[in-house]
Amino acid sequence: MKRVLITGAAGFLGSHLCDRFIKEGYYVIAMDNLVTGDLRNIEHLRSNPNFEFIHHDISKHIVIDGELHYILNFASPASPIDYLKIPIQTLKVGSLGTHNCLGLARAKGARILVASTSEVYGDPLVHPQNEDYWGHVNPVGYRGCYDEAKRFQEAITMAYHRHHNVETRIVRIFNTYGPRMRLNDGRVLPAFIGQALRGEDLTVFGDGSQTRSFCYVDDLVEGIYRLLLSDHAMPVNVGNPAEITIGEFAEEIIKLTGTTQKVIYKPLPQDDPKQRQPDITLAKEVLGWEPKVSRAEGLKITYDYFKNLPEDRLYEETH
Ligand code: NAD
Ligand code: UDP
Repeated sequence: MKRVLITGAAGFLGSHLCDRFIKEGYYVIAMDNLVTGDLRNIEHLRSNPNFEFIHHDISKHIVIDGELHYILNFASPASPIDYLKIPIQTLKVGSLGTHNCLGLARAKGARILVASTSEVYGDPLVHPQNEDYWGHVNPVGYRGCYDEAKRFQEAITMAYHRHHNVETRIVRIFNTYGPRMRLNDGRVLPAFIGQALRGEDLTVFGDGSQTRSFCYVDDLVEGIYRLLLSDHAMPVNVGNPAEITIGEFAEEIIKLTGTTQKVIYKPLPQDDPKQRQPDITLAKEVLGWEPKVSRAEGLKITYDYFKNLPEDRLYEETH
């Protein structure tokens, strides 16, 4: 039985990856320090004999007994309000945490896939973004703690690949959504759905003309699974190219939820990217992958998930 370590396993994406690898017949070692994660996301796996959970901060030395075949490094705060609250931990997990994972991969002879992000392109001057674009990041802006940690993560991953011959994979993830996002994590989809469910107005930042391209989580997980098993060591974009303005997105959520609330406008956060859309030509070529779930389908599943949560979860504080 192949053994996989998933860091950030109690988070949104990590928990879906745990489900997928259990389903594929792997032994899953889930690691998380719960700084933005939630054990409720993996509760259903705790009694599975092929699953174990280790509470650990990966910025500190990682110890795993026995064989390890794969590592998926997904530990990191991912939402702007999370990483702005804990910028130093964010820089540490992207740098020291990734270093520890790479060292572990080298010691165990494991293949490692790291979760990078469209944020490595910053506020992009090239549209749509392809993997050859080097990006436009403000290193000293508020988002710099996340963007530069992820850029360092990519650099150290390539150094381990080239210098130590570690088998590495880098996925550049574009905005992904689905069940198990934290309602209060500040990202636009849980923000809007949470506001609709609580009967509050929807907060659009800026004039709402900035764009994002939203990928449903199952599509993303499929892309990651294929990339891990592929031979491609250079970064690959995985995301859904269907682009929409945030203003239009708010209207879609209003329609979907049937809320009678309106849109209100708040200031645009510093360095908020004006446009974002993945060029997925490479993923199509090397992984034979493209997204299958339309935004209408994905949003419906996600809304049903949030709607069915116990009411008190709508009012939980941020971490
Ligand atoms: P999330 O906040 O739901 O999950 C992150 C998990 O990592 C949490 O469970 C958190 O407790 C854990 N964690 C953070 N620091 C840790 C540390 N030092 N040691 C151990 N665990 C730690 O976020 P997510 O959306 O699931 O994102 C997962 C990964 O995917 C992140 O690396 C993020 O940068 C990347 N990513 C996500 C998206 C997206 O749209 N969801 C987009 C681009 C990149
Ligand atoms: N956004 C918004 N209202 C909110 C939360 C976010 O208008 O309540 C905007 C935000 O300014 C950004 C977009 O939605 O332009 C996506 O934000 P998110 O935090 O989800 O992701 P990221 O900026 O990292 O892509």
